[in-house]
Amino acid sequence: MVNCSFCGKKIERGSGKMVVKNSGKIFYFCSSKCEKNLLKLKRAPKKLS
Ligand SMILES: [Zn+2]
Repeated sequence: MVNCSFCGKKIERGSGKMVVKNSGKIFYFCSSKCEKNLLKLKRAPKKLS
């Protein structure tokens, strides 16, 4: 199981979305909303301590 790269929410296998950037970095998103927030708006992911 992975966590959303933006909001940190758990993503079940088979759901969510994986994005591989040109740099080779892999992002996982629970929803397209999180994807847009991170990739388009370039907001920093919320850090969960
Ligand atoms: Zn998310």
